[in-house]
Amino acid sequence: MTAACDVAIVGGGPAGLGAALQLSRLGLRRVVVLERFGEAGGIPRHCGHPPYGMREFGRVLSGPAYARRLVLAAEEAGVEIRTDTTVTAIRPGGVLELATTDGAQTLTAGRVLLATGNRERTRAQLLAPGLRPVGVMNTGALQSLIYLEGKRPFLRPVIVGSEIVALSALLTCRRHGIRPVAMVETRDRPQTRRIDMLLARLMGVPVLTGAELLSIEGAPRVEALRLRHKGEERRLDCDGIVFSGRFTPEATVARQSELALDPRTLGPEVDADGRSSDPQVFVAGNVLHPVETAGHCWAEGRRAAQAIFRDMRKTPERAAGARVVPGEGLRYVVPQRLAAGAAAVLNIRTEGAVRGRLVLSDASGRELAARAVRSYPEQPVRLSVPALEPAALTGDLTLRLDRKD
Ligand SMILES: Cc1cc2nc3c(=O)[nH]c(=O)nc-3n(C[C@H](O)[C@H](O)[C@H](O)COP(=O)(O)OP(=O)(O)OC[C@H]3O[C@@H](n4cnc5c(N)ncnc54)[C@H](O)[C@@H]3O)c2cc1C
Repeated sequence: MTAACDVAIVGGGPAGLGAALQLSRLGLRRVVVLERFGEAGGIPRHCGHPPYGMREFGRVLSGPAYARRLVLAAEEAGVEIRTDTTVTAIRPGGVLELATTDGAQTLTAGRVLLATGNRERTRAQLLAPGLRPVGVMNTGALQSLIYLEGKRPFLRPVIVGSEIVALSALLTCRRHGIRPVAMVETRDRPQTRRIDMLLARLMGVPVLTGAELLSIEGAPRVEALRLRHKGEERRLDCDGIVFSGRFTPEATVARQSELALDPRTLGPEVDADGRSSDPQVFVAGNVLHPVETAGHCWAEGRRAAQAIFRDMRKTPERAAGARVVPGEGLRYVVPQRLAAGAAAVLNIRTEGAVRGRLVLSDASGRELAARAVRSYPEQPVRLSVPALEPAALTGDLTLRLDRKD
């Protein structure tokens, strides 16, 4: 079957657009980006604060300005961006099933890059008890209302969460005259660097860690969040609640396409080139690992583009290599497979705050890479792995954490 395009990219966020530009620069002329919304750009489109763009454009931009520049750069390089086009599945042989405003269609591509990003889990998934009054939302919904619809949904919300996206909610509120009453974290410590939490304190927003959420009160609007903090029951008067930061890969297409998924990340399983269990389908960006910065996802898209370009010169091969098995204290690792002959960087998250040493070893127990680590739960930890000999890949590779705390 003749492919209608060289590479089809599913998702027009920083990862997809970064890859599209790179493929075009490498000389591919038929690169198509498929984006389900009316505009490409991904999450930054409705994230109206900086910092975006340092790595890509050498300057600090707001999210929408950054998204526009990504789109423009891809279009100027000759990339075709099809908006209002949702990919529903990728069938073997690079056949994409599309839902468009003109009805169902198919598109055949030499290679496919899946870059569908991630999404915040709903309040129901967070199991927050209480009523369901107006004014309860996640950060994405808050930012869409403010930046895309020009609406201010509340004036005194509580932000539940304390990782980098909760800080984004805080910044969004303060830029639009909304004064958060408190940031509430159910775990024992903030989920980002202590220095980042200074921002909340400088804004006069108290941070309550180790809190247990008891109930949301009010009807039809939110009036209070009831919680237990330091053994005492408290009622925080507020007119809204922002639940932030429990992200999960947007893996619907991956599931429909029967790509192998990693039970830890819930995103597709890949090798160091970003190749999934379907040899024609590569993956990049936050669909692999919730949540990295836009610059990281953009760079990952570019690396996948280079791998795709190399791969297009030969017959697609099933991804080979050994599986990396994370041990106790480790939440996940991406990529999940390593092949011989090419250096790689493992992207790792730990369970809780840890101090110790990370060690990658082969089936015989030989150490292949190691580093000291001191990390909090949402902090990206990277481990550089040198190019491995085939002899190191005869069985599973083990990634273990030797704790020092
Ligand atoms: C609230 C918030 C604040 C943030 N603040 C910052 C910041 O200040 N600086 C920073 O560097 N990073 C920030 N980030 C992170 C950054 O936005 C992400 O890392 C980046 O957008 C990820 O890029 P991506 O391409 O992987 O995914 P996304 O940006 O999510 O793009 C994925 C795209 O795929 C599309 N898509 C999904 N499914 C389909 C389908 N089936 N068919 C077609 N299209 C589909 C989506 O519509 C979307 O456009 C923030 C993130 C959030 C949530």
